Amino acid sequence: MKPIRLAANRFPRFYRGGPAIDALRGTTPPAGAAFLPEDWVGSTTAAFGSDGDGLTRLEDGRTLREAVAADPEGFFGRGHAEAYGDSPALLVKLLHAGERLPVHCHPDRDFARRHLGCPWGKTEAWVIAATEGPDAAVHLGFREAMDPERLAGLVAGQDVEALLASLNAVPVATGDTVLVPAGLPHAIGQGVLLVELQEPTDLSVLLEWEGFAVDGRRDGHLGLGFELALGCVDRSGWSPTRLAGLRGGHGPDRPGVERLFPAEADPYFRAERLSPEPAVRLEAAFSILVVTGGSGRLETAGGSLELGRGDTVLVPFAAGPGEVRGRLAAVRCLPPTPEAGPDLRGAA
Ligand SMILES: [Zn+2]
Repeated sequence: MKPIRLAANRFPRFYRGGPAIDALRGTTPPAGAAFLPEDWVGSTTAAFGSDGDGLTRLEDGRTLREAVAADPEGFFGRGHAEAYGDSPALLVKLLHAGERLPVHCHPDRDFARRHLGCPWGKTEAWVIAATEGPDAAVHLGFREAMDPERLAGLVAGQDVEALLASLNAVPVATGDTVLVPAGLPHAIGQGVLLVELQEPTDLSVLLEWEGFAVDGRRDGHLGLGFELALGCVDRSGWSPTRLAGLRGGHGPDRPGVERLFPAEADPYFRAERLSPEPAVRLEAAFSILVVTGGSGRLETAGGSLELGRGDTVLVPFAAGPGEVRGRLAAVRCLPPTPEAGPDLRGAA
């Protein structure tokens, strides 16, 4: 199989953003594009409540979901296919916060399995690809343990000022990484462009919606009601030391390759920052490449592709081992190993 260059895959969301995605990809923003802040890359995941939005479509007209269902071993390799079936066990996005995103969080696997019939939660992680202005920041975790009644009151009353003040404000710069475990309340600050890795779901609980083009009271609780939905929120206190543990790396790897995210991310996804000097070898693996700068070339047993800034490429397992060469920077996104992710036996 050949590596597959992926076209942009954008659809309307309820918050502003998108120009930084066009700037990265070198494309012209589509007309009326104020609310196209995400590009789902190599996605077999549909947006919550939709059966089409979010799904990557291939050049031959099939969805990626249809293509992988026909050949999971070719796309993912046998070990992955035996563990996760025809799921890539990964969702990658480009996300540009044209305005600060609302405070929200995501259920973990246990909560999703018990209340939503889904074996995947939505732990996510960010690689900051660009920022705007001098004060780029994200909000992450409660500064002090949050009382459940107080949280319910802040959400019901949409007391956004108090909600934001209760969270850590964390400055971010291009190249930074942040692991966001399921449950951790967070909000991405205005102007931040990131490469996002996450479990393959679109499950969000909104703690804030006032002023956004969404009816959070109706659509912010996954259909569970807020009393139950707020049970997925991590209400524990996050000190600066504890937060620092989310921002670390994985330790050294081979030359030209930096393993991103701490080891706590391994059950959810893996990522590498590639900076070939002048080439890096890649083992055969299903992966999504996002080129964040420069240009070069991907060569695999199955085929080769020129790479430029903003390119997104799906490398199927059956493309075989390969090499990236050139003066470029790229994020290589990988699913968990077959041993590290959830046990799907008996799952719906
Ligand atoms: Zn999120």
